[in-house]
Amino acid sequence: MKATIVLLPGDGIGPEVVDEARRVVDDVARLFGHQLRFDEHLIGGASIDAHGTALTDDALAACRAADAILLGAVGGPAWSDPTARVRPEQGLLGLRKALGLWANLRPVRPFPELAACSPLRPELLAGVDVVVVRELTGGLYFGPRIRDVVDGRRRACDTLEYTDVEIARVVALAFRLAEHRRRRVTSIDKANVLESSRLWRQVADEVGARHPEIALDHQLVDSAAMRLITAPASFDVVVTENMFGDILTDEAAVLAGSLGLCPSASIGDGRCGLYEPIHGSAPDIAGRGIANPIGTILSAALLLRHSLGLEREAQAIEGAVAQAIAAGVRTADIAPGPGDAVSTTRMGAEIRNHLHRTRPARDASHYIDNQRSGAW
Ligand code: NAD
Repeated sequence: MKATIVLLPGDGIGPEVVDEARRVVDDVARLFGHQLRFDEHLIGGASIDAHGTALTDDALAACRAADAILLGAVGGPAWSDPTARVRPEQGLLGLRKALGLWANLRPVRPFPELAACSPLRPELLAGVDVVVVRELTGGLYFGPRIRDVVDGRRRACDTLEYTDVEIARVVALAFRLAEHRRRRVTSIDKANVLESSRLWRQVADEVGARHPEIALDHQLVDSAAMRLITAPASFDVVVTENMFGDILTDEAAVLAGSLGLCPSASIGDGRCGLYEPIHGSAPDIAGRGIANPIGTILSAALLLRHSLGLEREAQAIEGAVAQAIAAGVRTADIAPGPGDAVSTTRMGAEIRNHLHRTRPARDASHYIDNQRSGAW
């Protein structure tokens, strides 16, 4: 197949990890006979320095025209003044808004060989394979807000607002994902207190009624937060509103053992999605060639799966990453000691070596319409 992928390396370690992911995708394309074109643009602080804005119209137009976007990270001390008019994260938020990306997916499947990196006991991690689906464009972060002074007291108010349509589309996505997994959806809310959560629960039940083959359970966010670390293997697909998801996705990432390992996908109505590791620009290690590229490489696998419909190619990448880990290749964040660590480029090269060893079938090229077939 032919496709265009926009690369937005961004700031800090972003360019280092995106470069490795691009090499992996290049090799996959060659192995499976696809023509994938890369179109690179600036975003975040790098774009502010060059153009005075965190995302230029040209870069945005390229993203709109692309089949998918792979991003590194934005931000860093040079642009960290919270009162600045132009800030790096505006590029990312602008992109999400312009592309109508209303769901964020974060799969977490810890590697057994890295159990010691997690603060959890290894037996708790056995069998953990969870995807958290976070609603991304509604709720508390986007509701009407007030900041004023009443009777001499400073007052601030944020509102948590959802419509049934916003809830139904993200819950339906969770169900489509569960169809191809262990067929369990956990919807997380605070329905004992919040009116918006009571609507959320009602709509989730309505969507669930259309999927009798999938088990739906509801959990309150406070107890779910506890269960996520005391019984993480009990979850399959988790779906929740924006702020609860923001918090729970970071909690779930702890299960993996390092920020550097976790991928994410942001998707919406169109096929074009935004794929990025969950970590930031890591200014403390930027430029030293020691960042873990796995989160970005696994994000590229999600890109192939969800935006290009290339399931086998995505699995080839995931398999190669698992084999490199099993073979003992470790960057500093997951190495037992400093002497055991390899560089960012060496980790990328080892993963590509394993990719070549998988020898995919010559006719492996195929195209699935994810949105119609429900393959995600
Ligand atoms: P961070 O994720 O950048 O770093 C946290 C810690 O994890 C650091 O010690 C870092 O060295 C380590 N780390 C992160 N990614 C790693 C990797 N791939 N390999 C090895 N170690 C890794 O979070 P932070 O320090 O809070 O934020 C730094 C900057 O990144 C800030 O400007 C913040 O605003 C920005 N940020 C951007 C995004 C994004 O682009 N989506 C997300 C979070 C933070």
